[in-house]
Amino acid sequence: MQIANCYQILQATQHALPADARSARAAEAQAVSPPFTSQQGEISEEMSTVSEKQGCLSILLPFLRPKGKSVAEVLPYRLRDDFLSPAEFSFYKVLSSRLGARFVVQSKVRLADIFFVSRPNENVSYFNKIAQRHLDFLVCDATTMKPLLGIELDDTSHQRDSRRERDKFVERVFQAAQLPLLRFPVQREYNPREIDEQIAPLLKDKVVSSGVSQTASALTPSNNAVPLCPKCGIPMVVRTVKQGEHQGKQFYGCPNYPRCREVKPIPFQKAG
Ligand SMILES: [Zn+2]
Repeated sequence: MQIANCYQILQATQHALPADARSARAAEAQAVSPPFTSQQGEISEEMSTVSEKQGCLSILLPFLRPKGKSVAEVLPYRLRDDFLSPAEFSFYKVLSSRLGARFVVQSKVRLADIFFVSRPNENVSYFNKIAQRHLDFLVCDATTMKPLLGIELDDTSHQRDSRRERDKFVERVFQAAQLPLLRFPVQREYNPREIDEQIAPLLKDKVVSSGVSQTASALTPSNNAVPLCPKCGIPMVVRTVKQGEHQGKQFYGCPNYPRCREVKPIPFQKAG
């Protein structure tokens, strides 16, 4: 009976409106009430009752749309005017002006986009701890986008106990992953020299060329045992170079690739 009721209403609506206006009118009928003029008063009244009670209109609507046309759903998203707070923006401008073209600054970066969790199946809770947290600024190598330095701006909220606990945890995350983290107090204006003094030692010699990282090449693998990834602490796997000059050559790679790109040579490997 409900379906039959809907069908009658929709037939009546179709009859009353030109084809192009049908879907748009129907959408209005759902969004605004009461939607129709006195001529269609009966229909509108019945329609709103039906849609409120059963919502069957929304079920049948897709079948009544002209082909290739869809009802534009009005989404509630609006552009924020405060993507960066005045203090953040002020800091950002000074920081990027000091870094030059070798580095880029990213703002509001999710920790889970900077770090990954070793042995993810065992460590779901550790992933959850970083899934919703953001870092204020991340300095990356402009050529490789490798993260080099994290920066947090501390406002007065950082003095609250809950916030302090969060800050401590974030510091431990950075330590574990061996990424330096700097904190600057929130200020209306920033002294470029003060920023320089703090970031320069941490970014010195930090621009790396792509390819094998220092840690991987510096550590010599033990004779026959499968080596552990120096970053993740898990056994590496044998991989084969798929293309290019070294095609066919084998090496140890991390199972967490591409999140971890640590590699090690396989000792005493025959050529070819
Ligand atoms: Zn690894």
